[in-house]
Amino acid sequence: MYNFLPYAYFQNKFVPFAEATLSIATHALHYGTGAFGGLRGIPDPQDSTQILLFRLDRHCQRLSQSAKFLHYNLPPEKIQEIIVDFVKKNQPNTSFYIRPFIFTSDLGIAPRLHNIEKSFAIYGLELGDYLSPEGVSCRISSWCRQEDVSFPLRGKISGAYITSSLAKTEAVESGFDEAILMNSQGKVSEASGMNIFIVRNGKIITPGFEHDILEGITRDSVLTIAQDLGIPIQERAVDKSELLIADEVFLSGTAAKVVPVKRIENYYLPEHRPITEKLREKLIAITENREPNYRDWVFPISI
Ligand code: PMP
Repeated sequence: MYNFLPYAYFQNKFVPFAEATLSIATHALHYGTGAFGGLRGIPDPQDSTQILLFRLDRHCQRLSQSAKFLHYNLPPEKIQEIIVDFVKKNQPNTSFYIRPFIFTSDLGIAPRLHNIEKSFAIYGLELGDYLSPEGVSCRISSWCRQEDVSFPLRGKISGAYITSSLAKTEAVESGFDEAILMNSQGKVSEASGMNIFIVRNGKIITPGFEHDILEGITRDSVLTIAQDLGIPIQERAVDKSELLIADEVFLSGTAAKVVPVKRIENYYLPEHRPITEKLREKLIAITENREPNYRDWVFPISI
């Protein structure tokens, strides 16, 4: 069970989490017509009067973009303002995750996005490691990532997560920790809720946007860190066979941070993972505001 933060933002005000409830006839529940964000925060290890949010501006920007697909105008500045108030109200004292989301909140049937009420809400929970930092085993999913011709992949849209859920459950029920999804062209796309990277001969390779990935903010952070460390990077198509023989494979996401892949089906990856380790350590140091060159990725909130 999760420890939810005490207050939610619901119907334009802060209410105790338990009071933020909805009808079973809520439109979004039936049609997946929602969009969400997910960001992490921690109490500042150097200053107990502050909370640090990682890449708040990028998360607000992506959620605002996702909202456009729902025909809902929610400027990033507005999202940011409410998230800051949410953190001040909750005063979390441990590592936490914030889930801001937009959804069609009308009661009733018929899938549509016009002439329907939408709402913006936020809740949060305490969150430690989402996946084991020691490494995970992955199954290659029999489900493919959606294509942009039938689904707005540039948004983080609730309905998309049926595919992630099918893939994750298929993986877990067959004894693996996580799923890797190919796209409909048979190229590696991403995991159920994370982007994917491989390392070959000291080079970092990750599928590009044309391979139907989500615009991951951790992915963007990893690429920037790698570039700053002088590690060569390539954004390009990755074949399944290349994945299986990589020197290192890792997943990136807000909840998971950077997590090594130990095994893909019956292929065991080397246990020596120097690049994955370096990137994971650097990313964590940045989120804890220990890296002066990346201060602008960490948004401090005085509580
Ligand atoms: N892909 C999917 C499908 C996701 O749900 C997530 C998590 N938001 C990611 C990738 C990673 O994105 P981010 O680094 O922004 O959390």
